[in-house]
Amino acid sequence: MVIIIAKDAPESQVEHVIERLDELGFNVHRSTGIEHTVLGVIGDTTKLDARDWQMMPGVVDAYRVSAPYKQVSREFQHKSTQIKIGNLIIGGDEVHIMAGPCSIESEEQTMIIAEAVHKAGSKILRGGAFKPRTSPYAFQGMGEKGLEIIRKAADKFGMLVITEAMDAESLPLICQYTDIIQIGARNMQNFSFIKALGKVEKPIFLKRGISATIQEWLMSAEYILAGGNRNVIFCERGIRTFETYTRNTLDLSAIPVIHKLSHLPVFADPSHGTGLRDKVIPMARAAVAAGADGLMVEVHHDPEHALSDGAQSLYPQQFQEMMEQIRVIAKVVGRTIADPVK
Ligand code: PEP
Ligand code: MN
Repeated sequence: MVIIIAKDAPESQVEHVIERLDELGFNVHRSTGIEHTVLGVIGDTTKLDARDWQMMPGVVDAYRVSAPYKQVSREFQHKSTQIKIGNLIIGGDEVHIMAGPCSIESEEQTMIIAEAVHKAGSKILRGGAFKPRTSPYAFQGMGEKGLEIIRKAADKFGMLVITEAMDAESLPLICQYTDIIQIGARNMQNFSFIKALGKVEKPIFLKRGISATIQEWLMSAEYILAGGNRNVIFCERGIRTFETYTRNTLDLSAIPVIHKLSHLPVFADPSHGTGLRDKVIPMARAAVAAGADGLMVEVHHDPEHALSDGAQSLYPQQFQEMMEQIRVIAKVVGRTIADPVK
């Protein structure tokens, strides 16, 4: 952290700031210039709040030079993290496509969709059994029955499962059925919950909060790593902006930004990112071009009757077309995408 003190501040104010830093165990590098006195704070400043120092008498400004997150940062670990789940490696050369319905609605529905996405080359089946809905009157998910169904469907086609956990209490149950735990946008800053994820053995798919800055998102991942779970996958799923045409604004620049700031893999979700079926494929192409380590895409064979997010769900045929297109793009950026299953 750097603390800047006004030119005309009395020496007693400079000394007071230095004494406080000394009490807290920091070394201080002082440089007295013509315009200002600058104090460089040396030590682990992660616990300091720059605003506390801005408020001290004589101080003009105080700001951080190092990031408040540590373990998630590229400085901490230069090499990109690869997460091994079953036979798959997330964050390696292969771009992985998680696909399936928004909600598990029935065994028949899940089997039809699982077969279609598996054939098109997806190796990870998505589907919610516990749904975080904006309205209390909307379908809330099938609960444990839904978990049983998604596991059965994934096993039938040799796929992995990703499903959402909404609270710490349901983690033991969800862990019995899933390979990857999804944390929804609405829970990204539910700190008591995300603290509990540090103690879980499964990888965490951390969706970006609806109005979260990239730094807040990185800090949420820091909670999980600091708690002992190093397997976190980021997912950009669109943020709230002044634009209302699309459901959210998919912030594709977050992909290279996360890759620069963190060693952890990052996915994109063009379904929630746009909310509109006909915008999903173009944004999926763009996300792969931007270097995403994978995508999460909603697919439904009968979206008109879907119990949630039908408008943003691709028909199986469209999903297959999307896969064909992104295979070409992946090659251009030095990545691969699995071939369709004959
Ligand atoms: C979902 O994946 O169905 C979902 C609810 O996502 P998000 O948390 O990004 O809204
Ligand atoms: Mn959804």
